Amino acid sequence: MKVLKFGGTSVANSDNIKQVLSIVSKASEKEQIVVVVSAMGKTTDALIHAANAAAQKNNAYKATLQELEKHHFNTIKELIPVQEQSEVISYTKQLFNQLETIYEGCFLLQELTPKTLAKISGFGELLSSFIIAKAAKNSIGANYKDSRELIIASDDYNNALVDFDLTFKKCQDYFSNNGARVTIVPGFVARTKEGKTTTLGRGGSDYSAAIYAAALDAKELQIWTDVSGMFTANPKVVKQAHEIPHISYHEAMELSHFGAKVIYPPTIQPVLQKEIPIVIKNTFQPEDKGTLITKETGLNKPVKGISHINEIALITLEGVGMVGIPGFSKRLFEALYLHDINVILITQASSELSICIAIHENDAEKAVAIVNDAFAYEVQLKKVKPVFVEKGMSIIALVGDQMKNHQGLSGKMFSALGKNNVNIRAIAQGASEKNISAVIDEKDTKKALNTLHERFFEERVKQLNLFVTGVGNVGEKFLAQLQQQKKFLKKNLKLNIRVIGISNSRTMVFDESGLNLNSWKEALQNGEKASLEGFLERIKSINLRNSVFVDNTASEAVSKMYEGYLRHNIGVVTCNKIACASDLENYRRLKFVSRKYNAPFLFETNVGAGLPIIDTLKNLIASGDRVHKIQAVLSGSLNFVFNNFDESITFHDVVQQAQNEGYTEPDPKIDLSGIDVARKILILARESGYELNLEDIENNSFLPKESLDTKENESFYASLHKYEEHFQEIYQKAKDKECRLKYVAEFANGKANVGLQQIEATHPFYNLEGSDNIVLFYTDRYPQQPLIIKGAGAGAEVTASGIFADVIRIGNV
Ligand code: ADP
Ligand code: ASP
Ligand code: MG
Repeated sequence: MKVLKFGGTSVANSDNIKQVLSIVSKASEKEQIVVVVSAMGKTTDALIHAANAAAQKNNAYKATLQELEKHHFNTIKELIPVQEQSEVISYTKQLFNQLETIYEGCFLLQELTPKTLAKISGFGELLSSFIIAKAAKNSIGANYKDSRELIIASDDYNNALVDFDLTFKKCQDYFSNNGARVTIVPGFVARTKEGKTTTLGRGGSDYSAAIYAAALDAKELQIWTDVSGMFTANPKVVKQAHEIPHISYHEAMELSHFGAKVIYPPTIQPVLQKEIPIVIKNTFQPEDKGTLITKETGLNKPVKGISHINEIALITLEGVGMVGIPGFSKRLFEALYLHDINVILITQASSELSICIAIHENDAEKAVAIVNDAFAYEVQLKKVKPVFVEKGMSIIALVGDQMKNHQGLSGKMFSALGKNNVNIRAIAQGASEKNISAVIDEKDTKKALNTLHERFFEERVKQLNLFVTGVGNVGEKFLAQLQQQKKFLKKNLKLNIRVIGISNSRTMVFDESGLNLNSWKEALQNGEKASLEGFLERIKSINLRNSVFVDNTASEAVSKMYEGYLRHNIGVVTCNKIACASDLENYRRLKFVSRKYNAPFLFETNVGAGLPIIDTLKNLIASGDRVHKIQAVLSGSLNFVFNNFDESITFHDVVQQAQNEGYTEPDPKIDLSGIDVARKILILARESGYELNLEDIENNSFLPKESLDTKENESFYASLHKYEEHFQEIYQKAKDKECRLKYVAEFANGKANVGLQQIEATHPFYNLEGSDNIVLFYTDRYPQQPLIIKGAGAGAEVTASGIFADVIRIGNV
């Protein structure tokens, strides 16, 4: 004998029921089976909701009832041949008539007693089981039996306690005289000794099935549902969750107690005592192996799953009057128990100064009143404070029988959460160490679950979630490189980099499961209106672990947003140098906030595009070296300009060409005025540990004042035409000395300057080609022969690759 239970989704409509019948038919070939069914889809929710409406004199219950009736009749029509429908139609009609009368009673009396609610909520199973039994009668030869005649329970309506002795006897008597290969019974419903309908609690069809399995000493209890087993975490919240092949009764109980609703926790008890194996199977993918639940698994994996419950309230009772005085907790829990308030988690500080309990949010107000009442005397004497309640919490729990044999699991758990800025409000660890639970803010639940899942189940792949702003030259190249390397990174670096949001100055677009990088342009075009604050707010609300904001713009307004990102534990990678070259206080604050909130702030591309200049400098400093002097050609743009400028071309045309080829900032004056180079040497000096501001850098510009004073590109270019002679003269002077012109940045003795220099043929700068950059670091370790970094220092492709390198640096931490 086996017992098979099919949940709400499995019997939600005629197509699903047909699938159930095929599973049942196959299972019954081998042995006798009992089939326990839930109500169709969300019928129970709808019945309860309508009952509450009726009791509040809200007519809406009628529409719900009509809808339910229609759905049940449609199912009958689709499932059962016309000539056999009359009995089931009249039975169904009769039940709906009864329901209507009960609802009318509630409506008129404006009252809904637990007894009435239990009666109403059981109708879903009575309907579904009868319809399914009828459909199975001809094809499978199934028999129907009303569970209320077999399962006897107390009158704690809606959560009744089963009379096991009586129930077992009734079940055994019935089945020993019943030879049907398949018996279909409703789950969830039972009857009191006095003959009143009662129910076994929400999710209770699982329990009914377990009761049958235990009563009949079944070989196996199969729970057929809409997922392929018990998962390492709720698969609807954690995409990477996977089925647990084998788990113990205790582990399954802990996981389900903390919210893995695949199985209703009390279900385990009756089958555990008889050691009947439970198998969780997927009705819609019956070939999948599912999860086997037995006494022991023989596996030594410490963490088996992570579960969570939302809508939790934390109640704290504290006060100096509690220290060392016995009986406080007894009184607290007694008060809650007497008012039917279920305590989900308890923690007590060892100082006994406070007790903190987690309960369901719906019970919060009631609990506060009860506890304040119970301790009114102590509160009045100021021995304890009035209770303190915090709502909007959730509990997350790591579960595993073997956790007690492994060191440091809670350390791993809390440091992973801490790194992702998940604030932990309370912690509880049972003495048996089968679970470690933490109470956190509900808004962090998804992030916390995914973080823990990654930490304990996917140690090998790390997910980074990028939010990219600016998709001009650099941004577009970056996304293309990312798309091209995605597979490689996953396979070789175990990095799963996803782009969740993209924005330009006009529109922004998001996809929490990752944007398709082949079609981001169309998606962005059709996106919502962009705003800097809106982008940040959305990233905060999406609240993914390892989030990184990537700034590919040259915008000051965007750079002002960094602090907001870092403060929310969102990393920042930027090629925009405005922030790092802004006033010293701001630069220091960003560094501080980055450290404090554990959010990386990387800007390798601020100097020398993709060349590893800042990273090298950081490594020198971190390993104890000291920088004395830096000499550098840091402007790819100016290099390009002066390498291409001679008597055969105008200065204006060379600059125009540099801009067209993407070697300048959108505003070329920023490059030509030397500001850009000044910012770069400033950043290098700061990263070397010197405290400088942009004003401290001497800028010996070669541009005429009139060019410097222009306000936009058009007048700037016009001024270049006007002063062509001035530029030719600079060129000729250098040529006469057989020198080349290079725009050089220097830092020495705490001072920095930038300016055009005539470089002789013997100097390392002389042969710098195209848009190349070069940096010479003179340090304690490199006093005479400098450490030289040289290579392409401008251009969208190399800048994008530098951004990419920073992102990978974050991934590798
Ligand atoms: P049924 O109606 O078949 O009884 P339930 O809705 O009660 O089904 O339970 C199945 C659901 O449990 C799944 O659809 C899934 O969303 C949820 N669930 C929560 N935690 C887990 C978990 N750890 N593993 C599998 N499912 C889970
Ligand atoms: N139909 C009931 C409920 O929704 C019992 C069950 O499906 O397990 O709670
Ligand atoms: Mg269920």
